[in-house]
Order: sequence, then C-alpha cells, then structure tokens
Amino acid sequence: PARTATAADTKSVTGAAQTGRGAAIEIDGSQGEGGGQILRTALALSMITGQPLHLRAIRAKRPKPGLMRQHLMCVQAAAQVSGAHISGAELGATELRFAPGPVRASAYEFAMASAGSCMLVLQTVLPALMLADAPSTLVLRGGTHNPMAPSFHFVRDAFAPLVQRLGAGLTLQLQRLGFYPAGGGEVTATITPAARLTPFDLTERGELQQGDALCLTPGLSGSIARRELTALGQAMGWGEDRLRFGEARQHEGPGNALIARLRYAHVTEVFVELGARNLSSEQVAGKLVQAIRAFQRRPGAAVGPHLADQLVLLQALAVWQAGRTGSQADAPHADVPQADVPQARFSCSEVTEHLRTNCVVIERFLPVRCTLTQGPVSRVTVR
Ligand code: ATP
Repeated sequence: PARTATAADTKSVTGAAQTGRGAAIEIDGSQGEGGGQILRTALALSMITGQPLHLRAIRAKRPKPGLMRQHLMCVQAAAQVSGAHISGAELGATELRFAPGPVRASAYEFAMASAGSCMLVLQTVLPALMLADAPSTLVLRGGTHNPMAPSFHFVRDAFAPLVQRLGAGLTLQLQRLGFYPAGGGEVTATITPAARLTPFDLTERGELQQGDALCLTPGLSGSIARRELTALGQAMGWGEDRLRFGEARQHEGPGNALIARLRYAHVTEVFVELGARNLSSEQVAGKLVQAIRAFQRRPGAAVGPHLADQLVLLQALAVWQAGRTGSQADAPHADVPQADVPQARFSCSEVTEHLRTNCVVIERFLPVRCTLTQGPVSRVTVR
C-alpha cells in the first residue's frame, strides 16, 4: 500500500528511528531570493547527503513569511521519504529542524489539502528518489498548473528529458487537472534511479524543430481556448495543426492555462501562462508571447530562467557523484579529487535570483562550485 501524508496533519511526522549524520547544516532562509525554493532545495540535499538541516527565517522575503500549507507538504513528503525526525513543522513556522534517515524507494501518495502545487512536492523528493536503490511511484494531488511553480506540462516535456539525460528516469501522467483555488488535480510519477548520474553539457539549444501550443480551459467556455490559441498562433505564425485544445475530463476546473512547447535540437522549453479574471484571452496569449520572445532574443542560451534554476541542482548532484571515488563514496563532504575534476556547463537566458540562491544552498551541502556568468548569454558551470 502507498504511504500517505496530507497537509492537514502538520505536526509530528517522524519516521524510522534514524537520525542524520554530523552537525546540522545551518541555512538562512532570508538570503537571496528568500522564498520557498531554499526550503525545497535544502530538504532535497539534506535527504541525499544525510546531513541534518536547521533552517531559519523561512520565506523571510515573502509577504507572509514562514511555512504555508504547500511548504509543509514538502517537509512532510521529505520526512516520509527519508524517515526523518522533524521539529518545528507547523503552519507559519519560520524555523525548522530536519534530521533525515535513509531514503526509501516506495509507492507514495502526497495529497495537498489546498490548491498548492503538487509539482513542487515532486521537486522536493525527486532528487533523493532519483538516487535511491529502487524505483518509486508517486501519486501527487493538488494544483497541477499554479502561478510561480513548474506546471505538469513543463515538468513532463522540459524537465523530465533532462533527468533522463543524467541517466535517471522520470515519467509523468496527468490524471486530472488542478487549478487554484479548487485544486483537486492528480499526477502520477514513476522515478527510476540511476546508479550514478552522468553530468552533461548543454551549451546550445540547437535549431527549432517544432513549436506547438495547448490550451486548457476545464470548466470554462470553449471560446476562451479558441481566442487564446488564435492570438498565439497569429503571433508565432503557427497554423491550426500546431494548436490543440485540452481534452475534457469530468470534475475538473475551473481554470485556464495556455502552454507553448518549443522543441529545439538539444532541449525542449515549455512556457505557460495562466488565465486570470482580469485578463482577456488576448492578453493571456500576449503575455505568453512576451515570455517566448524573451527566450528567442537570447538564441545562444540553451534553457530559460526556470529550467536553469532547476537544472543546476541536478547537475550539481551529477558532478558530485562523478567526483566521488572509492573510499570517498560514503562521505558526503569528501573533497573532490583535484585531477580530472568533473564538470557540467549550460547556458541560460538569464541569471535569476532563484538560480543564484539555489547555487548558494547547493554549495552548503555538496563539495561543488557553481560559477555564474551573466551576459547576453549567461553561463553556469558546476565543478
Ligand atoms: P514562495 O511562496 O516562497 O515564493 P514558492 O515555494 O512558491 O515560494 P519559489 O521559491 O518562488 O516558490 O520557487 C518557485 C519554483 O518554481 C522555482 O524553481 C521556479 O523555477 C519554478 N517556477 C516558477 N514559475 C515557473 C514556470 N512558469 N515554469 C516552470 N517553473 C517555474
């Protein structure tokens, strides 16, 4: 049977009586971007390295600081996957202690009580399960297309292929769409670990091979999708064969997401714009076109801003693993051998505060260095 946690039981999720190794890594949640990403990256790295985590000033730069329901769900999911002892995991808490045990591959169910993004729960547990000793299956419930979060389509079409390129597997199925405020979405994910991840270079996106769009409007009038797709198609020069309407399922919505997928020779990027009450269909399409154009104005960049902050963690794990040899293999903070230092490089359209902050957190847990160079084409090197 699947292990289940819900965001409703917020306190005392404790697992096996194992604690993490060594002194806790102290992380200041107010640094840099100062949001939920610091929590998720720190949890992921704590689980993987076995280092306990002491996080303070959680989400200090957000209007409502501290753990919100969706962040608590991430903590609980991480605790369940690693049998962690946690203290301080309460709504609004700004301080958290997390002491992981061994990561357990299994069948898990994580159900967000709110419409919070279930893809951010996946983002939290994926890195650890990607390095476990057996495959895991996840049932994730909550929002599938949320503002300020990776959407299902982004994770499936842009992010998962990069996981695969490292040597691990991530396959995702959308069972039901979930939009704010109703939530109720469901995604199933299968994670196939790699014995060892292989870092790779991704310095060019290559030629554009295909661009297409999908419009989701569950519970809303079909004319919204027609208008959004027409406006997007005209702006991008995409004919009707490239514009798709989302399939209708029962008990979904209401909600609206306009999704553009750009398949390049070396990478696929996905851009998503969510509909909102005060936006016309044409404005939704217009905002999506702006995001696509911003990426197209940087033809030398392989990935966009969001893929960049998510890819850097994967690459850091791969570089770390590649740098560990023999007796160092079990020591999370072993020095990387000097000779033949493994590295991964990629280019991106911009260096965001999310990317910078992720790098700072990564460097606290792993013996890797992330070098960021901002320019017309920004570059990330992890070694
Ligand atoms: P907070 O409420 O503290 O801002 P949060 O947990 O919702 O917290 P962030 O810290 O802002 O979020 O992190 C958001 C994550 O979602 C980042 O990894 C970012 O790259 C990703 N993300 C945001 N928007 C998109 C998008 N349109 N496509 C793909 N990924 C996205």
